[in-house]
Amino acid sequence: MDLQLKDKVYIVTGGSKGIGEAISRQIVREGGKLVIATRSKDATEALAKELREAGAQVHTVIGDLQDLAACERVIQETVAEFDQIDGIVNNAGVNDGASLEKGPEAFRASIKLNLFHYFDLVHYALPYLKASKGAIVNVSSKVAMTGQGQTSGYAAAKGAQLALTREWAAALLPDSIRVNAILPAEVMTPLYRKWLDSSFEDPAAKEAEIVANIPLGKRMTTAEEIADMCVFLLSPRSGHTTGQFMIVDGGYVHLDRSLT
Ligand code: NAP
Repeated sequence: MDLQLKDKVYIVTGGSKGIGEAISRQIVREGGKLVIATRSKDATEALAKELREAGAQVHTVIGDLQDLAACERVIQETVAEFDQIDGIVNNAGVNDGASLEKGPEAFRASIKLNLFHYFDLVHYALPYLKASKGAIVNVSSKVAMTGQGQTSGYAAAKGAQLALTREWAAALLPDSIRVNAILPAEVMTPLYRKWLDSSFEDPAAKEAEIVANIPLGKRMTTAEEIADMCVFLLSPRSGHTTGQFMIVDGGYVHLDRSLT
């Protein structure tokens, strides 16, 4: 299937590690021009170099997206470099364990870390997305639907991302901009590894327990499987899909418990 991403311009936040890296690679594989907006300089420059050497057009914007000026800069630099914006993948986030016990300041910091930049980037990109009839993909989490325990801020931000997906899908109907969300559940990435290692006395046992409960294949979802869904949602081939929550999780959230 030709996804028709060739020479179109896509911004991926957190696009040099984990799920974001897989999405970046898949966009380039489909012929898209890529802007990686993230804060980890070394990983980003290394990935950009590799992709450019393979012929891709890649621009990087290094900065902390919690900073409003950084979000504005992402859009300015994208337009300066490539003249247009065809899609935004809001993906950067951190499950930071801001629990009820950790208090109001930690909660507020977690919302800032996980939510505001999803809005800010789309706000600044809006004129360009209107011009291209572009697409937005918000990477949320199954935590928005299931809870996790000990992570109020992240759960609230991930839930708000789903609400914004529906709100923007409605608001942007007249502009033919499609807006969808992906909800990963268990994908081994640097973030996931850190969560396992810092949250459990025996991370290997916990990992085995989680994997045993994933119905399809008793394995984690790969970052590439999330990326495949993402490029489809960016593509005109999903042209009548908007306001949807795609749960790419091997049946983890919804299938009958007796299957595990
Ligand atoms: P990851 O491996 O930690 O990658 C996230 C990337 O985003 C990192 O490069 C990180 O930079 C960057 N980032 C985070 N906050 C940023 C900020 N304020 N400004 C700029 N860059 C920032 O995480 P991942 O597991 O791939 O997660 C990606 C998305 O999937 C997140 O939204 C997460 O909530 C969601 N998700 C993941 C899973 C899973 O199983 N992995 C499950 C559900 C949802 P640094 O390296 O500098 O921190």
